[in-house]
Amino acid sequence: MKILVLNSGSSSIKFKVFKLNSQKEQVLASGTVDRIGIKGSKIEYENFRDQEIVLDLDVPRHERGIELVLETLQDDEVGIIYSLDEINAVGHRVVHGGEKFAQSTLINDEVIRQIEEVSHLAPLHNPHNLNGICVCEEIMSDKPQVAVFDTAFHQTMHREAYMYAVPYKYYTRHGIRRYGFHGTSHKYVSTRAAEETGKQLNSLKIITCHLGNGASVAAVDEGESIETSMGLTPLEGLIMGTRCGDLDPGLITFLMEKEDLSIKEVNDIMNKESGLLGLSGISSDSRDVRKAAADGHKRARIALDLFNYKVVKYIGAYTAVMGGLDVIVFTAGIGENACDLRADIINDLDFLNIELNEQANQVRQTAKKITTDDSQVDVYVIPTNEELVIARDTAAIIEKNEIQV
Ligand code: AMP
Repeated sequence: MKILVLNSGSSSIKFKVFKLNSQKEQVLASGTVDRIGIKGSKIEYENFRDQEIVLDLDVPRHERGIELVLETLQDDEVGIIYSLDEINAVGHRVVHGGEKFAQSTLINDEVIRQIEEVSHLAPLHNPHNLNGICVCEEIMSDKPQVAVFDTAFHQTMHREAYMYAVPYKYYTRHGIRRYGFHGTSHKYVSTRAAEETGKQLNSLKIITCHLGNGASVAAVDEGESIETSMGLTPLEGLIMGTRCGDLDPGLITFLMEKEDLSIKEVNDIMNKESGLLGLSGISSDSRDVRKAAADGHKRARIALDLFNYKVVKYIGAYTAVMGGLDVIVFTAGIGENACDLRADIINDLDFLNIELNEQANQVRQTAKKITTDDSQVDVYVIPTNEELVIARDTAAIIEKNEIQV
């Protein structure tokens, strides 16, 4: 089965084509259409034969972007299919599924209506995801389409974990509660970690640390997410590249008053000017901040120390919430690559009797256990693969619904 996976953003479309069968899961092609509707738009593409192309083309709208992807996939030289008939289905990343979607779902008119209904919860993302779905419905109307939600995995959280203590009417009126994000990643790496341990997922207490530009931690107890650090929006929780993470809600009105800020201005400060960037004044990219800290830059050091401290604090809290801990997983750009940051975090978790294997911890972007066999908690690096989960879920739904493709 060949599945096209699409992640449609405001000005970009990321895509990947998978060939899935019982023996093998292969990426046939992948790429990005960038700067849609902006000067300098282009498509970057590579296929499984290691052919790479970058084409500077005018892409005024998403519709043209998706057409371009389909044309490139069928190109005489770099293509990977002869005709669109070979694509069996399309899987779409959708950021917010609200309380409606606890699982990936076959898309129909009613599902589109329901995604629209919860779009007020993710106004920066869902409309663009929906746009990608609608364009595909138009130009590939015969292909089944599946929506895979970033929030779905966390719908197993209990009320204590997802409610905010604001008047209850705001929950019923606006759906104000904690939803969590990065669900596809937390689901994938917890499942992969269980495979690595050789134990059943439903016998393990796992904490997954997705540490990238956006960052979140999840407590996965017997395969179900029971806590995660992002909330109503991706702003809550850890310190991120430019997001502030947890803070006293009183700070917001205080700052607005002191600095005479509008809602938009304060929102931008929390989302785009805080985190590693705001603290260090250097960059949102952890590599730049680490380099500056190593060169003695004081604020860069503060930014990194706070970043690590928050991860340690969440791991402690989630161990308490689960009543124990078997496995910690590090994933995403920072989690998969920053060996010294992983070592610092693990060294700060003394009370868990974790024994780091210094040599194994030099690993980057490869699934590996980085603790010794004597360690009381196993720690793994597991590269995340959200697109693969989208492709697998899409294939499973097509098969379950016995859709002829
Ligand atoms: P992501 O959002 O998952 O793409 O992760 C982006 C973050 O990963 C940035 O803060 C990068 O600095 C960090 N990152 C990516 N590659 C490396 C690397 N080789 N070493 C350390 N950090 C990295």
